[in-house]
Amino acid sequence: MNMVKVGIVGYGNLGKGVEKAITQNPDMELVAVFTRRNPEQMVAEGTEVRFEHISAAEQYIGKIDVMILCGGSATDLPEQTPAIAKLFNTVDSFDTHAKIPEFYKEVNAAAEQGGHVNVISTGWDPGLFSMNRLLAQSILPEGKEYTFWGKGVSQGHSDAIRRVPGVKAGVQYTVPVEEVINSIRAGETPELTTREKHLRQCYVVAEAGANQDEIRETIVSMPNYFSDYDTTVTFITEEQLKAEHEGMPHGGFVIRSGVTGAGQKQIIEFGLKLDSNPEFTASVLVAYARAAQRLSLEGHKGAKTVFDIPLGHLSPKSAEDLRRDLL
Ligand code: NAP
Repeated sequence: MNMVKVGIVGYGNLGKGVEKAITQNPDMELVAVFTRRNPEQMVAEGTEVRFEHISAAEQYIGKIDVMILCGGSATDLPEQTPAIAKLFNTVDSFDTHAKIPEFYKEVNAAAEQGGHVNVISTGWDPGLFSMNRLLAQSILPEGKEYTFWGKGVSQGHSDAIRRVPGVKAGVQYTVPVEEVINSIRAGETPELTTREKHLRQCYVVAEAGANQDEIRETIVSMPNYFSDYDTTVTFITEEQLKAEHEGMPHGGFVIRSGVTGAGQKQIIEFGLKLDSNPEFTASVLVAYARAAQRLSLEGHKGAKTVFDIPLGHLSPKSAEDLRRDLL
């Protein structure tokens, strides 16, 4: 079996998910976890893990095949991916969609310098959803496409409600509008506004004595976050928040409704229902780490996206086995 020696950079939700995903892939070996925090104070959730300070990464050249970068997209990855890409093959989940072209250029320049394969913006969106949008558009050039997210926790929106005065804690779910999805599945191709596609549900723990009506009004009228949506605010206790809202579920659908010939309706749908967004995203990153190593061994280099990587490279099976078992 060809082994892939992996390093993890950043030990948050995603980094911990990668650690777990590696244990499900017998061809993967975790060499070390690199962090900006003091490695001596880091404790692994699972088995024995070697922690190193991120500045020690260079010492692992030749000992690690692929670094899986698990930092945040806002400020960590724009700095970490180009720096690490000069030294190693990498995989990341950069998800600031509007900045992907700019990010690609920077990582590609670093990849040229280092001669490595650097897979950017994989995961589920961007990632598996992007791949399905491309597939459906290529097959049904006449058609209309929809992406729905949820039901799932939005970290950014949850942070926004926690900043409202009088709010002690809270969580926000993005919820796709079921009737609209059903109408698309039935062959309709409606023009949809933001409000018509998703609802926002907020569960809030208020500080003692806080004015709940004021909190609700501040949340539902918040520009960029809630004012363009139908938003509900439900007040709950701290115990309820802990018992019922600790998980990080997510998911969604990519649907393309098209026509062929003299108007035959054709619908392509891809959906995900995830109990844990970071653990699923981590599993995608691990499969792409395998592909990155394989592309690199074949002599490829440069920044790559899910559009550039042969699907068979994600699998530990040989091309021959895949043809026999899955085609
Ligand atoms: P996170 O838990 O906030 O971790 C981000 C970084 O913060 C970690 O790498 C870690 O770096 C640091 N950190 C984590 N916990 C810490 C703590 N207790 N104290 C101090 N520092 C801590 O973020 P995440 O949930 O793993 O998500 C990472 C990124 O994944 C998101 O920004 C998002 O862009 C991306 N994502 C993409 C997809 C997709 O489909 N493409 C899906 C989900 C998420 P150090 O170890 O170096 O301190």
